Amino acid sequence: MGVTTADTSRKRPRVGILALQGDVREHARSIVASGGDPVSIRRPQELTDIDGLVLPGGESTTIDKLSRIFEIAEPIREKIANGLPVYGSCAGMILLSNEIADPATDQEGNPQQSFGGLDVTVRRNAFGRQVDSFETELDFAQLSTSEPVHAVFIRAPWLERVGHNVETLADVRINGSTHAVAVRTHHLLATSFHPEVTGELRVHELFIRMIRGEA
Ligand code: GLN
Repeated sequence: MGVTTADTSRKRPRVGILALQGDVREHARSIVASGGDPVSIRRPQELTDIDGLVLPGGESTTIDKLSRIFEIAEPIREKIANGLPVYGSCAGMILLSNEIADPATDQEGNPQQSFGGLDVTVRRNAFGRQVDSFETELDFAQLSTSEPVHAVFIRAPWLERVGHNVETLADVRINGSTHAVAVRTHHLLATSFHPEVTGELRVHELFIRMIRGEA
């Protein structure tokens, strides 16, 4: 028998992807390529048998609304509080934030809600109307290699406040001020941008390492 690496000797973690709206398929592809088994999550009972959860990019107001209709918002809050590793990209970052600086309101005037977990304040569509979408190279800490990440921002949020227990992994400097666009805690990871659409695997690999307790 040859040498067995950690990757082949351990079972692949089961990673749920909240599949109410957004770029679920792109995350599923990235999870497979990073060594996990993706599983679509729509109902509360599907949360019981997963090792981690991805909140995809999309429209946070829609995901918020559907998650309450499907009665999965509260179970997700409980899972986060109990330490389930969760990665949110873009809309997913908004959903992981404890505070939304400029919450959208529905037709009755009720502000959108988040699941929370990250002690941060997020601003939606922060980069402004002129730059709806842009791409840049980002220095990103804790990845497997130090090459910059080619980051695609699409009507992206940024973080206006980052709590003491939250670590900034990447930031952008715009018009003289710096804003966090990737953060983590022990078990939560969030990015303003979409590694799942560019074939950048190192962010998902970091998440898989977090699930395995290796990062
Ligand atoms: N602007 C969107 C929101 O508020 C996020 C955009 C995205 O996920 N690409 O949910």
